[in-house]
Amino acid sequence: MEHPAFVFTQISDFLDYLGPDFATLIANTPYLANLDHAPSFPFCCSRHYADLIKNAKEPAALLREVLPTKEEYADIPGFVMDPVGDLDAGKSECVIQKYDRRALIVTTATCGVRCRFCFRRNYPFQSSPNIAAEVGSWLDTHTDIWEVILSGGDPLTLSPAKLQSLIEAISDHGSVTTLRIHSRLPVMRPDLVQQHFEFLRDLPARFDCVLVSHVDHPDELDESSMEIFGQLRYSGWTLLNQSVLLKGVNDNADTLTKLSRKLFEQGVLPYYLHQLDHAKGVAHYEVSDEKAKALIEEIRTKLPGYLVPRLVREIAGEKSKTPV
Ligand SMILES: *Cc1c(COP(=O)(O)O)cnc(C)c1O
Ligand code: SF4
Repeated sequence: MEHPAFVFTQISDFLDYLGPDFATLIANTPYLANLDHAPSFPFCCSRHYADLIKNAKEPAALLREVLPTKEEYADIPGFVMDPVGDLDAGKSECVIQKYDRRALIVTTATCGVRCRFCFRRNYPFQSSPNIAAEVGSWLDTHTDIWEVILSGGDPLTLSPAKLQSLIEAISDHGSVTTLRIHSRLPVMRPDLVQQHFEFLRDLPARFDCVLVSHVDHPDELDESSMEIFGQLRYSGWTLLNQSVLLKGVNDNADTLTKLSRKLFEQGVLPYYLHQLDHAKGVAHYEVSDEKAKALIEEIRTKLPGYLVPRLVREIAGEKSKTPV
């Protein structure tokens, strides 16, 4: 189990840590006041993220990403258990191939947090006792795969030994030229990312390496994320970011503009801005397509083109993400 000092799994401990000012803020914020102390999708948040909330210019936005509310029980048509068709695409227990010659690996169910809007919040994770062997044998019979994406859960929550054996198993397959890691840990558990530094820094000698971070709000970025991105960047990683467009969190041009600029200051380029996947229990985070498109048009007038993320949505059965 995690050291309790690093992760809160009880809302009351988390609120105690934040202190009375935040209790007042929560009670007075429409999006948060409907707090659910015993959610069916459990609560989890790192101490690091709690510290980010304490230092945030807009703490309510960050709180809304992690605090469960009763809105999650609303049964809204179209919000379903498997919104992105992962279960149809699962070719083996942990490998998902939806796209041409590229495979995604569900490495673990564990994250540094439980984002309330998570598209895999209802996903029936299989725990694989030997993921390296499983992925290795899948790749043995799929010799055209050139990009492997480690996803999850969060792949950087794996122990260094497990992550290394998984990447060694991938490395045995000459067709794989690009290794990509999807992680929210640079802003959730920088301490866990540090454990992998030595190994990650050496990888660009073997693969083209891409880290796609998940940062939704500029207040999630601080000196710790700066340090992580800096270490990886100077060892040869390409750094990209994906965000989810979320009502009450980042659905305004000012926040999105600040996010892009702050990412760039830390060496990361905005990649995708995702329209919300329609998982059951997340409808209260939905931003309409009209509003999303207007936001992109507005930030396009404020930022250089390379800092404007691509607005996309995932449609089950499609051969790529779909531009909105
Ligand atoms: C999103 C996704 C990818 C990555 O798609 P990109 O457009 O390259 O970012 C790959 N595989 C699966 C199954 C995905 O859901
Ligand atoms: S980090 Fe990603 S996978 Fe984990 S809870 Fe958040 S959205 Fe879901």
